[in-house]
Amino acid sequence: MKHYDVVVAGAGPSGATAAYYLAKQGKSVAFVDRAKFPREKACGGGLCVHIEEFDHIINNWDDFLESKCQRGIVYGPEFLPVDYVSEKPFFYNIRRLQFDNKLVEYAVAEGATLIQGVAVKDFEVLEDKVIVKLRNGEELSGEVIIGAGGSYDLVSKRIREIEKMPMNWRDEDIAMALYFEVDVGREFMDEVYGEERISMAHIKYDGLDGYGWSFSKDTVLNVGIGCPRNIIKKLKKEKKGWSERKYLLDYVETLKEQGWFPKDIEVDRKMISGANIPVGMGMSCTVGDRMMVVGDAGGFVSPLSGEGLYYALDSGRLAAESLDVLFKDGNFQKQDLMHYHRAWSSKWGDDLEWLKVGWHLLMVMPNSLIKYAALDEETKEFFTHMFVGSMPAAKIKNKVLALIAKGVLKHDVLSLMTGKKGVVPELAN
Ligand SMILES: Cc1cc2nc3c(=O)[nH]c(=O)nc-3n(C[C@H](O)[C@H](O)[C@H](O)COP(=O)(O)OP(=O)(O)OC[C@H]3O[C@@H](n4cnc5c(N)ncnc54)[C@H](O)[C@@H]3O)c2cc1C
Repeated sequence: MKHYDVVVAGAGPSGATAAYYLAKQGKSVAFVDRAKFPREKACGGGLCVHIEEFDHIINNWDDFLESKCQRGIVYGPEFLPVDYVSEKPFFYNIRRLQFDNKLVEYAVAEGATLIQGVAVKDFEVLEDKVIVKLRNGEELSGEVIIGAGGSYDLVSKRIREIEKMPMNWRDEDIAMALYFEVDVGREFMDEVYGEERISMAHIKYDGLDGYGWSFSKDTVLNVGIGCPRNIIKKLKKEKKGWSERKYLLDYVETLKEQGWFPKDIEVDRKMISGANIPVGMGMSCTVGDRMMVVGDAGGFVSPLSGEGLYYALDSGRLAAESLDVLFKDGNFQKQDLMHYHRAWSSKWGDDLEWLKVGWHLLMVMPNSLIKYAALDEETKEFFTHMFVGSMPAAKIKNKVLALIAKGVLKHDVLSLMTGKKGVVPELAN
């Protein structure tokens, strides 16, 4: 049985990043994925600007960057638009087939061992090591196992069992998201989405909690919808024939009516796929004896936008950095690995909580927030950056209520007193 310092189960962005940083430190690391790379993954492929923290990302943009977004248009449920234009890119677009494959290649180039096309079936934590069992009957061992297998990760299930946590996220803490990608050609893209490569969202489309999006890559549009599982379950019970696929296809019709999607492209159900997004603000415990979890496995996703790529990379890096410290003494019990739990909690644990607050505010008062943002530059910039994940918790908590109060006083109370209503401007073009 081959022994490694660390075995990573899952080679998506979180697992590949953990493997990359561990290999860079000179650790022996195997990262195992049931898929063979390059592989597709359901995703909008939008990256928040914090991704610039990673040298191996900013030094390799040409490997995967599709477009830089400098304009965002967000519609409220009544189709009032907020149009935000920025001098600097505030959102980057990639496609997961290339991006994930490159992250795997960077880890391998640093010396990590990739084992692909075979799933991790089980693992056993012993006093002095972890035995990892693969579906093909092979076994590996490591000092520590990192669970990076996404929302159904084996290691996170084991931690939940040990900690007596609920075995699954609550339905309201899981977003179900569907998407498809289609090449719309350069002419359509340049004409409609422009050089600024507009990113678009429709908040509470058709009155449902959640949002629809259309993200513009180089010549490919990525279109999708996300909605909490409790809402989807309720609708399926109440409305005969309702399905999330049909909801997405209806959304495409709206995009066509608004001119954001080519009228001559038919989207059929086979093009659509989806996955769950854990939006429960991170697991309350993300480590156990010789175990840790990163990325979606730990529930590290913005509850406001469903964006998890930055957190996947950063948790992978933080896990590797914590292990670098712990390998000096060779102690990997839960209390030692709490080093990692504290690291992510103090870096962006608060952000996840405030983004959950932002989500509830947006679902409760979408039309008011859209109006306040459309009529006030500061509010517009604030909410756009909060939505795309570039706003830290400290700024959110200090400002969110002040900006809402400003909107209420200026655009509701004052307009009542003066009889003058602020009119949301139409889109420039
Ligand atoms: C429709 C949709 C749209 C999204 N849009 C965005 C977006 O625009 N921006 C953004 O930042 N985030 C977005 N997300 C979230 C983002 O996709 C995830 O947060 C991100 O993929 C998490 O990375 P990860 O490495 O933790 O998990 P994953 O990317 O899920 O990778 C997990 C890997 O583990 C492997 N695996 C699983 N089980 C095993 C096993 N037992 N053995 C071996 N391998 C295993 C899988 O094959 C997979 O390769 C979206 C999600 C969805 C579903």
